[in-house]
Amino acid sequence: MKTPSNPAAPPRKKTAKPRAMPAVDVRSFIVAISEGKPEPRSELAFTDAYTLLIAVTLSAQATDISVNKATETLFRDAPTPAAMVNLGVDGVAEHIKTIGLWRGKARNVVALSQILLDRYGGEVPHDRAALEALPGVGRKTANVVLNVAFGDPTMAVDTHIFRIGNRTGLAPGATPRAVENGLVKRIPADLLRDAHNWLILHGRYICKARKPECWRCPAVAWCRYQAKTEAPTA
Ligand code: SF4
Repeated sequence: MKTPSNPAAPPRKKTAKPRAMPAVDVRSFIVAISEGKPEPRSELAFTDAYTLLIAVTLSAQATDISVNKATETLFRDAPTPAAMVNLGVDGVAEHIKTIGLWRGKARNVVALSQILLDRYGGEVPHDRAALEALPGVGRKTANVVLNVAFGDPTMAVDTHIFRIGNRTGLAPGATPRAVENGLVKRIPADLLRDAHNWLILHGRYICKARKPECWRCPAVAWCRYQAKTEAPTA
């Protein structure tokens, strides 16, 4: 049941929604956050499309650092779908027990590897529908694989990109899919592929969830966030 509001309580302050960023500023914003990162890289460790797919599947609700620790030994023992199937669910579980949801992830990794062998000759398909039909692979994972492994101009919206899209006015939307659609539509085609990693790095290190560090943000001139923060005083 919904809790009735307390009539004695002061009205809750609403945070003003940012104005949508004008299309003309979107390029400047993306170029600004790309400074110093001309060829952005995923922070997940992988060597090919298969190990990328496995690493991204394992990264749900886990940090890249914890996934990289687990895959360092997992990929040493099972760098291919056939080796992963041979390792089996219990064998995979031994490598990934340190990351969240490891039981389900171990089952998915072996099941999806078996499907790659049965249907795609052990290769990762360059096809969104085929990727999204694999166990444990949703739209976000498919977008990362299509972008990083195949060079497609996709936008995988994680928690950082969803926040930045809304906070800055870059592509406001109520759902990850709405933000994804907005970003794909608004970011110039020549920047779209790399924008995925630039936005993630910007959200991780500058436009942070709890308190964005606007005072050292290279895109401050184009950002529509109204409560910009100032440098902490010593
Ligand atoms: S100015 Fe602040 S809110 Fe805007 S993108 Fe930069 S860090 Fe984020």
